[in-house]
Amino acid sequence: MDYDLIVVGGGPAGLSAALTSVCYKLKTLVIDAASAGGAPTNNFPWKIVDNTLGFRNMTGKQVADIFVGHIKEEGVEIKENESIENITRDDAADEILVETNKNKYTAKAVIITIGVLGKPRKANVQGENLNGVNYTLTDPNLYANKKILVAGGGDTAVEWAVGLAQAGAETTIMHRKDVFRANEKNQNDISQSKVKILWNTETKEILGENNRVKKVIFANNLTNETKTEEFDEIFLALGNVPHSDFLEKIKVKTDERKMKIIVDETMRTSIKGIFAAGDITQKWLKIPEAIGEGGYAGICAYKYIKNPYWA
Ligand SMILES: Cc1cc2nc3c(=O)[nH]c(=O)nc-3n(C[C@H](O)[C@H](O)[C@H](O)COP(=O)(O)OP(=O)(O)OC[C@H]3O[C@@H](n4cnc5c(N)ncnc54)[C@H](O)[C@@H]3O)c2cc1C
Repeated sequence: MDYDLIVVGGGPAGLSAALTSVCYKLKTLVIDAASAGGAPTNNFPWKIVDNTLGFRNMTGKQVADIFVGHIKEEGVEIKENESIENITRDDAADEILVETNKNKYTAKAVIITIGVLGKPRKANVQGENLNGVNYTLTDPNLYANKKILVAGGGDTAVEWAVGLAQAGAETTIMHRKDVFRANEKNQNDISQSKVKILWNTETKEILGENNRVKKVIFANNLTNETKTEEFDEIFLALGNVPHSDFLEKIKVKTDERKMKIIVDETMRTSIKGIFAAGDITQKWLKIPEAIGEGGYAGICAYKYIKNPYWA
């Protein structure tokens, strides 16, 4: 057996699970397909984190760096840029096999904390593969003085648009409906920003020059009126394709839409020895919940592994 516990996903939930695990002296490995830190590192490194007690006025990257630094100081082994492709239980050996794109590992227990972001949803329009079409925003300051189009109407789209405008970009947001699906703070921020809003509008085609974004053709979906406008960069915030295929492959029990792993009150999934926590169990979808649930999954996994001698 390589490890006592393998944590699949190194976001706030996974890191918190790993902290509990290592505090209880379990041999612990965290594996992440991208950089450890999860969504705060990979999806909103520049944005101020709200809701997280003790981390006032800090960006996603600052908060995530503290999480990751803490875990590393505790001696947890972290493998980054390594994607888990399958997880199977071997009943005879009473162990879990974790297969990645690089290696195979065995553990007594696994905690799945892969979040909900999966892959960014595509717009499926001509020109989407041109340079200058983006699905993440790593630093709005890189786009100061540029002319930017953001497509989408959720919290992410609104936060990107506001962040870009604050960084000095001439920013337009385009949404196919006439109201944002964003929280009150974000609605308020955008109403007070310089962002130009195009309601009921959808991208029809992206036109390029030298393989780079040049213009966007968009249409009002009520009037069918089309317009063409020049932009330097386009940011598509159209949501994410969930981890459904992966969840189906590992045969863990999910909700009907295959978006959420079903866990019991001790974070156990339908497969013995496999636990889940954080966004993938879909409750609040915020960092404090991920930390709390991850830590709790860690202690539940510990009890399972030790078959609690002290309970
Ligand atoms: C734009 C944006 C802004 C947000 N702002 C806030 C905020 O201000 N305050 C707040 O509290 N919350 C915020 N959230 C939500 C918060 O980021 C999440 O609730 C939290 O990160 C969930 O933690 P998690 O560990 O469950 O998942 P995640 O942070 O999503 O981490 C999951 C990790 O699993 C990895 N992974 C996925 N699949 C695999 C695989 N097959 N193999 C290996 N690794 C894999 C991913 O690379 C990722 O690092 C925001 C989210 C977004 C997208």
